[in-house]
Amino acid sequence: MQVAKTIKEVRSHVKTARSEGKKIGFVPTMGALHIGHISLIERAVKDCDFVVVSIFVNPTQFGPGEDFKKYPRPIETDLKICREHGVDLVFNPTPKEMYAAENLTCVNVEKLTEPLCGRSRPVHFRGVTTVCAKLFNIVAADIAYFGQKDAQQAIVIKRMVADLNMPVEIEICPTVREANGLAISSRNQYLSEQQKKDATLIYKSLQKCQEMISAGVKDSKKIISEMQKILQRIPSIKIEYISIVDAEMLQKLDQIAGEALIAVAVKIGSTRLIDNILIDKSK
Ligand code: AMP
Repeated sequence: MQVAKTIKEVRSHVKTARSEGKKIGFVPTMGALHIGHISLIERAVKDCDFVVVSIFVNPTQFGPGEDFKKYPRPIETDLKICREHGVDLVFNPTPKEMYAAENLTCVNVEKLTEPLCGRSRPVHFRGVTTVCAKLFNIVAADIAYFGQKDAQQAIVIKRMVADLNMPVEIEICPTVREANGLAISSRNQYLSEQQKKDATLIYKSLQKCQEMISAGVKDSKKIISEMQKILQRIPSIKIEYISIVDAEMLQKLDQIAGEALIAVAVKIGSTRLIDNILIDKSK
């Protein structure tokens, strides 16, 4: 496995792989790799001949007062995980390598970045789309892999690629969970043991929603109110949103129909957690 710190090195390794006729897969991450990331890597290794993983805690997607500084950066463990899972190239740049002193260009997807997480994180998605556009230009992969865990991110990235005709296919992989249902996240390590237990109620609330929809309930308000009751059992919880939206434009659905995204964001103590499920009523 090669480890590149510079854009030039990545381009050179990818050029060689491409000249050998290899299909290039790409998994962008911020590191602190866990089994959620590994599921994307495994999928890329299965589909492609040359797999690139980027490990970059992207400063531009963190707002003021967010956890950029304290975000975990266990690079040696991450490299070991990549090596053990058949990654060919890790790109681990510094912020200086990725951003000029005065960066004047960014990519912004309108509308889709306003609701849900966009409300409390106004600069987040612009940072994500800009860094992904840059990474797509650097790696020039055939397929890039993202997780359903970050549902809005996946929808925004797909839209950016479609709107800007970027020559990369986007694959969205299922959310990996603990046995108790808690969606795996690098931020779970900020939680105490009790908070981790409490956090399992997030997925329980989504399961309740699924059950209600299966039983024929269509009224979003009713469903959200039941979900709220479950989440409020967590003592230190601050519910940021519980939203039922259409999975394309992220517009509020009063009645469940078509492909619906049910998304939750909460704070437990000072840790922000998100989770979601997709329900397709059009099939
Ligand atoms: P991050 O390092 O948090 O930026 O995540 C990198 C990629 O891994 C993103 O596409 C995430 O959606 C994906 N990811 C994170 N957690 C999970 C999970 N539990 N299951 C599936 N994918 C995940």
